[in-house]
Amino acid sequence: MHVRHLPAAALLLACCASPVSPQQPFALQGTIVTPSQVLQNGSISISGNLIEDVSASPAGTQNSAIVTDSFIFPGLIDVHDHITWNMLPRWRPNRTFRNRYEWQQTDAYSIALSQPHYAITSDHELACDADRFGEIKAIVGGATSVVGGLAPTYGTNDNACILGLVRNLDIDAGFTGSVLNQAKVWYTIYPLEMSLSTEAEVSAGLKSGAITAFLIHAGEGSTTDAAAAQEFQMLAKNGDGFLRPGVSFIHGTAFNAEDFAEMAKAGVGLIWSPRSNIELYGSTTDVRSAKSAGVKIALAPDWSPTGSDGMLEELKYAATWNAAQYPPVFSEIDLANMATAIPAQLAAADKQIGSLAKGMYADLLLLRKKGTDPYQTLVQAALADVRLVVIDGVPVYGDVDLMNKLLPGRNLEQLTVCGAPKLLYMEPQAGIPETAKTFRQISEELKSKLEQWGTSLAELAPCSGSDLN
Ligand SMILES: [Zn+2]
Repeated sequence: MHVRHLPAAALLLACCASPVSPQQPFALQGTIVTPSQVLQNGSISISGNLIEDVSASPAGTQNSAIVTDSFIFPGLIDVHDHITWNMLPRWRPNRTFRNRYEWQQTDAYSIALSQPHYAITSDHELACDADRFGEIKAIVGGATSVVGGLAPTYGTNDNACILGLVRNLDIDAGFTGSVLNQAKVWYTIYPLEMSLSTEAEVSAGLKSGAITAFLIHAGEGSTTDAAAAQEFQMLAKNGDGFLRPGVSFIHGTAFNAEDFAEMAKAGVGLIWSPRSNIELYGSTTDVRSAKSAGVKIALAPDWSPTGSDGMLEELKYAATWNAAQYPPVFSEIDLANMATAIPAQLAAADKQIGSLAKGMYADLLLLRKKGTDPYQTLVQAALADVRLVVIDGVPVYGDVDLMNKLLPGRNLEQLTVCGAPKLLYMEPQAGIPETAKTFRQISEELKSKLEQWGTSLAELAPCSGSDLN
């Protein structure tokens, strides 16, 4: 997909956010996928928001590592999403389209998605609810970082309610020195959101280092759509040209092998969203050509109305698609990297996230062990198998045993995900009342408004594999 951001009504907040309160240092024991190597019975210790140590020994540097019986991965990094849209139920237009412009002009899209989305996001309070619902959905789906959360109303910081859950790489990554709405990662839809002045600003920003990553929707349509295909040449020529390191094209469904060869040569990445492509256009990007040309490819869900509900579901979708290719395009290790190390590189954040090593930010995903192969477990995981999600050193979601051990005495909210009891921890941010709401309150407020528009609130989690279509 996508459409323009429809920002919330202006409301200036009195204050700024404070970081979540520091956790006690803790250590987790399990099979650690760094992801460049697998430590069969290792431990990882966390102090503040950083990884203090990754050890091949189960005790590590601490005597009290919690036994998790899990595969411990870097948190998954979602570099293509539209978080506030993920409150909306799946959209089944029962047809396919030539390109994004075609479906955006249909009444069916307007009634099912854009009108209810506008009604919600033009109200500040509900816009925050929608963002936080979408972030919780992303976390339940295995992500610790996203791109595409709630944008500010022009010239304001009224989207501070995004703070405190996932890392919003394009809004405020939460790394040392990051500032709300001054992120060095830019996320845009070409050409809808790209005026001549934006082109000039991005070109200059990429040259000066003010912008370190530019993630841009381009070439979104069927594999034979000429209008979508033409966007490659336009981007190559416009401004100073966007075939340069730091740039990644999202979708590229209409691009061909020659385009991918040029991208590889110029150091341009690709962000692949197969489920949304196949549901909207009946086909997806020629990732075999992109891979053999040497393009770095990340995997991301796009949005849940026509894509996956989250990263784990998109991994499962991609693995299923891949198994039907002859020969398969990707290995399971490739797919794991496409959800961790590679998106970190494309977001210019690989010194901070995307792998597990001393000094990296502590963003983790723990999955229940099924068998002995961590990569197979990752691409086949059910959402009930998520044992724990740690973001910025804070355990935010997971199984009851681990959450209670890690956060004794904290205010944890019970959720049931695909029949499994889970606990969620959302620490209110100082001066931002929207962050004090429970998941239940958020859901009820959204549900009531969405029902006025003849629709309903999306499921938090997809629980049946048979929903893949
Ligand atoms: Zn999109």
